[in-house]
Parts: sequence; C-alpha cells; structure tokens
Amino acid sequence: MTAAGLRDSHGRVMKDLRVSITDRCNFRCLYCLPETEEAARFYRAKFDALRNPKPVALTPIRYEWKPKEHLLTYEEIERLVRIAAGLGVEKVRVTGGEPLLRHGVPELLVKLAAIAGIRDLAMTTNGFLFARHAEALRAAGLRRVSFSMDSLDPVNFKKMTGREGLAEVLAGIAQAKQLGFSPVKVNAVVIRGLNDHEIEALAAFAREHDLSLRFIEFMPLDSGHAWQKEMVVSGREILGRLRARFDLVPVDQSGNPAETARRWAFADGRGEVGIIAPVTEPFCGHCNRLRLTADGKLRTCLFSVEEHDLKPLLRGDATDDDIAAELVGLVAHKEAGHRIGRPISSSRRAR
Ligand code: SAM
Ligand code: SF4
Repeated sequence: MTAAGLRDSHGRVMKDLRVSITDRCNFRCLYCLPETEEAARFYRAKFDALRNPKPVALTPIRYEWKPKEHLLTYEEIERLVRIAAGLGVEKVRVTGGEPLLRHGVPELLVKLAAIAGIRDLAMTTNGFLFARHAEALRAAGLRRVSFSMDSLDPVNFKKMTGREGLAEVLAGIAQAKQLGFSPVKVNAVVIRGLNDHEIEALAAFAREHDLSLRFIEFMPLDSGHAWQKEMVVSGREILGRLRARFDLVPVDQSGNPAETARRWAFADGRGEVGIIAPVTEPFCGHCNRLRLTADGKLRTCLFSVEEHDLKPLLRGDATDDDIAAELVGLVAHKEAGHRIGRPISSSRRAR
C-alpha cells in the first residue's frame, strides 16, 4: 500500500467502496426508478386529475439499461477491488440496481472475499430474490446483508416499489436470520405522506425480529425530480417519534466516526434502530466512501456531478500501478460535501 493510501485534500481516508454490479432492477421504487411519469411525480399528476376529472393515461418510463458489454466483468471488478484494497480500502458493499439480478453473484463474492485487506464484505438488496440465493451467498463468503424495505403494509409496499413483493422480502429477511447473517439490516427511506405513518410499526418489527433497522432521510436522487424538502422527515423528527414509543439507549459509536447512522438499542433487548440523516445532518466531514458504477465509473460522492471512467484503463494496457495512481489522483479531488437543498445539486444516481 502507498503510505498515504486514498487520502483526499480534506484529510479523509477512503476505506469503503460500494460496487454496483448492474443498473437494472426488478422493482420500480417511486424515488429511484419510477414506473411511470406520474409515479415519478409521486402520483401528484394523478391526484390533480382526480380533482379535475379527465381520463388519466399513465405514461410508462422507458429505461435504457447499459448494454451488457459495457458492464465490468467480475474479473475487472476483482482487479479494481484488489488495487483499491492495496490502497487501504477495507469494506466492499455490492449493490445495484438490484445486485441479485446479475448471474453468478456468488462467484464474484468468492473472488472479493479472497482479496487481502478486505475485512468486510456486504450486500444491499431489495430482498425479492434473496431467499432463493441465500445459501449460495453465505457459502461464498457474504456475512452482512442490508435489505431495503420501506413498508410493512402490502398495499403501501406496492405503491412505493411498484411491485407486489412484500412477502418475498419478508421471507428473505427471515432466511438471512436463520442462516446466521449478522447483523441483518433493514433500510427504510421515510417520505412524508407515503410511509411516515409506518415508523413505529417498522421499529416494532425490528425489535420483534432482532434486526438493525435504519431510517434514511429521503434524498434528491430521483430521476423524476419529485424531491421536495417538505417530503423529508428529518432524523430529529423520526427520533422523537421513536422515543415517544420505545425505551431507547444510545449505542457506543466512539470507535467508528465514519459510521453514517446514529444508533439506539431497545432497552429491553433485541434489535436496534439507526437514523441516517444526510439531508438535515450531513456527515460529509467523515465520509470515507467511494462508488463504482456498473460500467466502471468512479464517483467520489453520491452526489458527484462528475464520473471518472476507469474502463478504458481496465480494458487497455494500464498496469495495476497505473490504475492505483489514477485512483489516488481522483480521490485527492473528492468533494468537500454535498449541496442538498442548495440551488445546484446533481440528482443522478450512481448505478
Ligand atoms: N436495489 C437495492 C436495494 O434497493 O436495496 C440496492 C440499490 S438501492 C439504490 C440502495 C439503497 O438506496 C436502498 O436502500 C434505497 O432505499 C436507497 N435509496 C434509493 N433512492 C433513495 C433516495 N432518494 N433517498 C434515500 N435513499 C434512497
Ligand atoms: Fe430498485 Fe433498489 Fe432503486 Fe428500489 S431502490 S428501484 S429496489 S435499485
């Protein structure tokens, strides 16, 4: 490893790499890949039309997925992660799109788990396909998994994800617990007027099933540009609601300042809740993350305006040292922080 590793000009050292392995998804979350133009505007247009009754035709959104040959191969991902590990990256999270849509994910996990220096390998999934792959993922070296589940009500789940998949996601969570994945995390994005009435029920579910639940503030990442400040339920408000209902004790996080969630355990034992508040309480000052898109572009911030294409290096004749030097140079220019709520903010998601 080079002495400085991946240090940026603000003194932050990169330890965490999020690797997207596909841009495709089997869900159509309103805030991420909405199914229709109307869903992209959270059905506001439909409601307007209901007030002013005229027939409403829902307008499907066509996504142009990246051609397969543009996606990094598992060998290319392995090489890049090995180079990053040589520069001090310790944590890898496999994500997407929906990562379990890509074939042979266990094969990739075996490669990543074997890389010297990678001490934490995790995955974020919508959970729909998890149960059927769980044993193979576990055998391949996956130990930690985060499920995304914004609602426990089948009707609301469908409204938010565009799919009837709650039973499958719940089965995936149960299977992860049974196979000993630890911790099993559940992420819930909270959006005012959509699922904020479920905050207490989601927390009770975490307590009952011994899960680490993370409430996430709604961020302006939606391609439909529906995000409005008013739809964000602040971490502070979420915590107030939780405290009114549950006896919570703070978890000691002094050993890990880069952790994005503020965490509380239930005083009576099982499970915990955490709050990730990037909008109202940005944690950019401690950010140690990098992101790699499925087609090999490095993003130094979730809200980066610029992406840096590493594929020409990976597919050209660059040596590992050349690629390492490129990573060091790109990280040096990592943004100081995001600009959510300020006039110009990129709202493109890294996939
Ligand atoms: N498909 C997988 C899943 O849903 O878990 C992995 C990719 S998904 C983009 C990763 C996470 O980003 C999910 O937990 C999702 O809820 C979260 N996310 C997506 N759009 C968001 C937004 N606008 N604000 C906050 N979180 C968001
Ligand atoms: Fe798919 Fe995850 Fe985006 Fe939902 S949040 S549409 S599950 S990628």
